[in-house]
Amino acid sequence: MKELQKLKQLSTFINPNNPLKPVLEQLKQMVHMVTKWEYVSTSGSAVCRYLGGRTYEIRYQEGNLGNLVHELIHVAVNEAYDQDFINYPTNRTIDVPDRVINANGYCTNEERRQIAFMDRDWINRLSVNLSNLIDLVTHSEIASTEKKLIIEKLKYGMMNPHKEYDTVITQILVWLVQLGYPIITLPKTSSKTYQANIFYDRLEFYVREAYNLRSYGRGHINRVIRINQLSDSDHLIRSCTNRYFILTPWVKLNDRATQIITIDMGVNFCGSDALVP
Ligand SMILES: [Zn+2]
Repeated sequence: MKELQKLKQLSTFINPNNPLKPVLEQLKQMVHMVTKWEYVSTSGSAVCRYLGGRTYEIRYQEGNLGNLVHELIHVAVNEAYDQDFINYPTNRTIDVPDRVINANGYCTNEERRQIAFMDRDWINRLSVNLSNLIDLVTHSEIASTEKKLIIEKLKYGMMNPHKEYDTVITQILVWLVQLGYPIITLPKTSSKTYQANIFYDRLEFYVREAYNLRSYGRGHINRVIRINQLSDSDHLIRSCTNRYFILTPWVKLNDRATQIITIDMGVNFCGSDALVP
């Protein structure tokens, strides 16, 4: 398919420091799991079939790379967490009904399972990120047509952040890269306050963070306990219990904590400031 070819090209020429680079590598693995591709004129979808292992059906818009990446991210999310396309790992098992699979391999109670996986703290955190992005793009120099599309997409994410966070931020990053962002040839006087690049940087940060989490899958849920024990002596964590505390909005990490987590969890972040919205 021509779009997959284009995705390959994009991943070849993209700057290696751009988080899209590893994201596109991750998506290449997902492509192998797709058994059915279909064009649609609007929207798109990624549906899982649970028939002797997972395969996927993807519907997307012809020629729209951002849209294709969006749908493949749904697949990457499902593969990372195996939680019915929920965009974060939880260790919630109570109230999650067993998966009901029909003769064609489709899950018939996905929505009920998704509701059971909903986690207020995670959803708040993801919503805050999305609204930060809306704020930043609103005050940016990005042309009004593109700005409108970006804001629409971010608002779409805010309606269902538990299902559409990773997808929406990554799709927008594809758009921006296609538009030639970040702008690097700014006159010195304006470069510090060039809002479009500030928006771009924040978006990259979130995309990288989401990618790292997906790469780690559900592994960090068990690791939290270990780090929790460390926390007693180091006062690392005030309020984490059973979730991945790096993403809990109220936890402020000191340098020592940042160091431990960076090493131990393989997660990169740009200082603790970014963890406290
Ligand atoms: Zn979606």
